[in-house]
Amino acid sequence: MAADLTVKSAAYWPIRVPLAEPYHLSAVYGTLTHSQAVILRLELADGTVGWGEADPGGKKFDGYTLESTCQALDGLLPGLIGQDVADWVDQKRGRARTGAAAAAMDVACHDALGRATGRPVWQLLGTRRRPAVESLWPTSSGTAEQDMATINRAHAQGYRTYMLKMGDRPIDDEIVRTRAVLDALPAGTQLMVDANQGWTREQAQAYVAACDTLPLVLVEQPLPADDLEGLKDLRTRTRLPISVDEAILRPDQVADIIAADAADVFSIKISKNGGLANSQAIADMVEAAGKRILMNSMIELGITQAASLHLGCTIAGLVPCGHAYMSTRRMADDIADFSDWVYDGAAHLPDGEPGLGVKVSLDKIEQYCVGERHGF
Ligand SMILES: [Mg+2]
Repeated sequence: MAADLTVKSAAYWPIRVPLAEPYHLSAVYGTLTHSQAVILRLELADGTVGWGEADPGGKKFDGYTLESTCQALDGLLPGLIGQDVADWVDQKRGRARTGAAAAAMDVACHDALGRATGRPVWQLLGTRRRPAVESLWPTSSGTAEQDMATINRAHAQGYRTYMLKMGDRPIDDEIVRTRAVLDALPAGTQLMVDANQGWTREQAQAYVAACDTLPLVLVEQPLPADDLEGLKDLRTRTRLPISVDEAILRPDQVADIIAADAADVFSIKISKNGGLANSQAIADMVEAAGKRILMNSMIELGITQAASLHLGCTIAGLVPCGHAYMSTRRMADDIADFSDWVYDGAAHLPDGEPGLGVKVSLDKIEQYCVGERHGF
């Protein structure tokens, strides 16, 4: 008789894990000191456990907070009890909802199915095109000297793509900073910038006019997420690849931007995009349109990072540069062992481990829990 793959119980924990160093972003987001996440544990009728993680980015990013994510899970989890995870994955039920809570549920269902049937999550998603993905390393919003101190440390650890966070300083200073970092960059490395919605149309236009001939991999989210007209206009003014991140929470927003031909690169984040099924649907749309994908991350922990790596290893149309698999390396601690997969500047899939393949520590989850365990 086939194993019973229905969800028997679910539990979640809201947690806060400190960053190794504070992370200064644009004027829109300020400085971050912790990762906030909700860890979800599903248990199937056959005893298999599956893990998910929600990474709410705040009201100005994806609209979700730790509190609203917990409330969403309170509403959604009773409906997950009794569902068959094989049906969930095969029928792409994760596509019915978006948001951080839905992402945790979809990732946990994929992990549980993979662990129950002895298959890695990438195999549930498609074809593994590569065993590892190169990682980027970001700098805080600051000066070129501060950037180079961070970049030189990252270079020594094997990272070859760097992302400058911008968006809270005068635009002329950011242009000077970009040139100074490019001049000082070690040979064989690449640079991208992320304004995190921090510029006006005039500032963004001034930046791309001044940097148009510079070898930047991409310029991410130069304008507020809802300014599609501004983005469309900006893209006609420059040969620099324009990337969208906060502007694409849902697949329908990706369709609108593709229809408007307003971006070259699309940043996928498993939690922001509502899980693996939604993220894969976005990747399919972007590839069909001949555009490229950046596998990106929130300040997230090892469960979401592992899910992102499994998907990233199946996607043909990745931007040829490092992707965001450094998140747990920037934390003071993690609730899983994903950091062990990140070495020589790349994130490596484990060999043949079922499900996500990460080992999750209940002790660590309880250590960093900022509320209490909620069970269903
Ligand atoms: Mg971004």
